Amino acid sequence: MIEKDKIKEWYEIYKQGKSLKELGNILHKDHSTIYYHFKRLGFKRRPNQMSDKLKDFHRYRMLNIKPENHPRWKGGKLNRNIFKHILIAEKVIGKKLIKPHCIHHVNGNHSDNRNINLVICENNNYHKLIHLRKKAFYACGHVNWRRCTYCIKWDNPENLIIYKNNAARHRECQRKHDREKSL
Ligand SMILES: [Zn+2]
Ligand SMILES: [Zn+2]
Repeated sequence: MIEKDKIKEWYEIYKQGKSLKELGNILHKDHSTIYYHFKRLGFKRRPNQMSDKLKDFHRYRMLNIKPENHPRWKGGKLNRNIFKHILIAEKVIGKKLIKPHCIHHVNGNHSDNRNINLVICENNNYHKLIHLRKKAFYACGHVNWRRCTYCIKWDNPENLIIYKNNAARHRECQRKHDREKSL
């Protein structure tokens, strides 16, 4: 267990305006560890730290971007051709997205870029899957059901053949499809 005096010393540095992260870098400790010890001894955290961050986030949204601390910033102006939701998501996670096209808008409204409305997908397939499941849910109430491309009916995947290109057909529908093709 770390001595109380030691933690008091930390707290003195913290009071001078350093953030927990910066303090962590100085002490080679995780900021959550430092916070844990502060809490344990009843040392109060500076108020507004979080809400300042939020304010910054909203200001950034309204101003249409000029944050020097944005991961994409290299001096001068940020490229405005990058979609706003990408810039916002990157600002929130603090680094550049490798595949920035993989941001999903939960409520479907692409101009609603509040961070609660953004889901960062690990790749485009995952993003497509979200849309597929959403579509299925609204169409038939089952997220994992798929639509036969021949008879246009939604069905349990157990009753369907799913092809590599993601098309799904009933066995029976596939036969009809093949017959028509060969005519
Ligand atoms: Zn999406
Ligand atoms: Zn079918």
